[in-house]
Amino acid sequence: MSRKPPLPPQIHVFVRDWLSSNNVVLKSGDGHVVIDSGYVGHAPLTLALLATPQGLGDASLAKLVNTHCHSDHMGGNAAIKERYGCPIALPEGEAPVIDAWEQQTLLLEYADQRADRFRYDEILQPGASYVWGDLEWRALAAPGHDMGALVFYNPEHRILVSGDALWENGYGLVMPPEIDPRALPATRATIEMLGRLDVKTVIPGHGEPFSDVGAALERAASRTTAFEADSLRAARHALKVVLSFALLDRRRLALAELPDYMAKVGIYRDFNARFFRLAPRELAAWLIGELERAGVAKCEDGWLMAA
Ligand SMILES: [Zn+2]
Repeated sequence: MSRKPPLPPQIHVFVRDWLSSNNVVLKSGDGHVVIDSGYVGHAPLTLALLATPQGLGDASLAKLVNTHCHSDHMGGNAAIKERYGCPIALPEGEAPVIDAWEQQTLLLEYADQRADRFRYDEILQPGASYVWGDLEWRALAAPGHDMGALVFYNPEHRILVSGDALWENGYGLVMPPEIDPRALPATRATIEMLGRLDVKTVIPGHGEPFSDVGAALERAASRTTAFEADSLRAARHALKVVLSFALLDRRRLALAELPDYMAKVGIYRDFNARFFRLAPRELAAWLIGELERAGVAKCEDGWLMAA
């Protein structure tokens, strides 16, 4: 049984799911801050959660911050900015990617994901400190899953807002070396950096906040070792994650159309050409089997459905 670790009263975490990242609310008399905005398809739900008393209630929002700019973390940026008129602050490394609205790095169309385009107002520097919710947060570069990602560390309460750099069980998908040679070494270095921090509680991008940080770091390190030993494993993992996400987004995918989908959507097409060299029909059949075995999907009446 995992017990919810206590957090300072001005922090509230809306624990979401795998389509939308968690939303972290940091309250202060000087203005409230929210970290990460969820997926675009969930934007109405995100706005509704933020309007509850645990969130902002009737108050205004002083700033929206992103840990990194994948669609499940920034997809609600435009909706939140429109509702609250607040500035958006994002990591320095993400700014050029957002400027160019780069489909491949952002895993948007390239991975069949969506987001509403938005304008940002402030750039967060790795190594700098920020005061949000009356607490000091050190922004630390946490490249790997996303090369521009930041995590935010509060030394007073030893809290780490980790985004997708560290979850209780793993971390966000990492590109194999053949696709991005920087990603796995950066993941390794980020895990080591996090291991040197004195962390009591992690608020991850997905899943409940947790306190057994040592065990989570060990799992992250051994996953990294496995990926380093076999980049095919990283490639398989990435495709499974991306298809699971698409299934959550679309609820169901027509089985008959999946081979076409594999041939058309960039990440499947590129990974298949690079790693698997299967007919699109074979790639689809293998992925369907993997998702069924993992218990995240089932086949019914010609559809692949989220389980
Ligand atoms: Zn991510």
